[in-house]
Amino acid sequence: MVGIGLIQTLSEGVGVALVIPFFYSVGQGGFGESFREGAPEFIVRIVDAAPFLQNPSHLVLAILGLLLLKNVLSYLGGVAYGWLDAWMGHELRLRVVERLLVVDLSVLESSEIGKLDHLVETHTYEVMEAVHEVVGALTTIVALSVFTTILWLISPPLTLLVGFCFAMISILLRWVGRGADVISARGADAEEELSQRTFELLRGMPLVRAFGAEEEERQRYEQASRRTVALNLRFDRRSEAIEPLTEVLVAGILIGILFTAIATPAALPSIIAFVLILYRTYPHVLALDNARLSLVACGPAVDRVNALFAPETKIASDHGTEPFTPIDSGIRFDDVRYRYGSSGPWVLNGVSFQIDAGSTTALVGPSGAGKSTVVRLLIRYAEPTSGRILVDDTPIDQIELESLRSGVALVSQESHVFDRSILENIEYGRIGASEAEIREAARRSHALEFIETLPDGIHTRVGDAGARLSGGQRQRIALARAILRKPQVLVLDEATSALDATSERIVQDSLALLGSDCTVLIIAHRLSTIRAADKIVVLDRGRVVEAGEASALLANGGLFARLWELQTWAHPSGTVRTPR
Ligand code: ATP
Repeated sequence: MVGIGLIQTLSEGVGVALVIPFFYSVGQGGFGESFREGAPEFIVRIVDAAPFLQNPSHLVLAILGLLLLKNVLSYLGGVAYGWLDAWMGHELRLRVVERLLVVDLSVLESSEIGKLDHLVETHTYEVMEAVHEVVGALTTIVALSVFTTILWLISPPLTLLVGFCFAMISILLRWVGRGADVISARGADAEEELSQRTFELLRGMPLVRAFGAEEEERQRYEQASRRTVALNLRFDRRSEAIEPLTEVLVAGILIGILFTAIATPAALPSIIAFVLILYRTYPHVLALDNARLSLVACGPAVDRVNALFAPETKIASDHGTEPFTPIDSGIRFDDVRYRYGSSGPWVLNGVSFQIDAGSTTALVGPSGAGKSTVVRLLIRYAEPTSGRILVDDTPIDQIELESLRSGVALVSQESHVFDRSILENIEYGRIGASEAEIREAARRSHALEFIETLPDGIHTRVGDAGARLSGGQRQRIALARAILRKPQVLVLDEATSALDATSERIVQDSLALLGSDCTVLIIAHRLSTIRAADKIVVLDRGRVVEAGEASALLANGGLFARLWELQTWAHPSGTVRTPR
């Protein structure tokens, strides 16, 4: 790219400089003594080396040829730039997404989703702009060097004078653009914020409508949008001043040089060539100053992308080498403590319990007790702050992550579905499964009956985040996904909370069919969901307060019995029934 720029500038510079012999060829005493004394040395040498240039038509042809070459190279350079931009942009976006796929979940959880979206979509584009500017600046520096050399060869004193004036202009422009970096950083924050607002607004639209909060949301959005407008305008006031200011100052310099030319008619051809080349030099000076400001504007985006790739950005750790083999005895939490961040409160505070192989263990407890956090640690979305989780006798972090995850299926309350067909969403459980297997999993999760009523059946697309499905339908798809996986460990975190009682019962029977090889951990607020569990572990404020079979816990009269009582009523016969 820089090479193309060099040839381009040389052909342009020499092409314009050939105006000098042209003047001599059509007047100014031809190529005699006055030419040798008045024309710059390098022009005299060029004409001596190529005598055919003493003919005005040949000179015109040479000038046109060089200008044609310059413009062909300019076109080729533009196409090459476009190619580089498109592919480097693609590579960078891909690297960012690859990085997002491996960083620790906590890194993503500490950022709002709208800001991450902005990172992938906008910041990568801005980083490409920065690369573009750097390459452009290099080409500009080459062009400036070539033009300055030609100017120097035509007239050293004038070149020094012009160089001094340009240096002064550059200092002035820096002063005009002062503070642009701070404004740009604040602008980047504001744009990220706006992006997050947009994302939140679109996501929360049903809530906004339900609570009639359209006007409040409009105002909040307007505020965020106005902030970006104000910062962009402040930045533009500085950057847009540069071009006109430079033009006026350069025009002053050119007029000064023309006055010199009038005072010394003998040097007129050289001075006209000098002015013409100087006129072509000025856009490059301008481009260099603009590049500096554009780089300032891209700075925050470069910082954001850099931060993602910084060595200290936590990567989901996988030091495990052991395969996840069938479990013999069970999974044991051994004095596990965990907190979010480095100084938050203990969310799990010395949790110890055993999930027996092939059995169903239920985790119950009040909201915020730490149940979902146990699941996060079990599927290694996070590592315990202290204590150990053992699968049989192997610490869970020694098990290869991919092998562990392929043996575990999680169905959580959110039941995320992608905007793909139902078939593809279920196939996510085991990529490559046949349609018959997928349909069977859908049948067992009680999903097939609603799937068959959809216009395209199992091939129906479900809309963004499953927008065209009910909560219960999304859960059935998530359950089908888990059933298809045939996992060794099935984790159900409020996985059937959106199902009606009959559906839940049928789904649970289906899950039981996963076989006695499957170890199940189930979390549910609805205690009827866990009635069939072999063991119940009761968590309260990050501690295990009781564990055992339901009947024993009920007899104990502890927290479980109290929770049970809250969800049941005593039948006149003295038996206890669930409300459903
Ligand atoms: P629920 O039954 O309401 O789902 P839970 O028993 O599953 O609750 P957890 O989701 O494990 O409880 O949360 C335990 C505690 O950890 C809560 O006090 C919660 O505020 C806190 N917590 C959960 N996630 C985070 C997070 N990402 N960052 C900081 N604190 C968190």
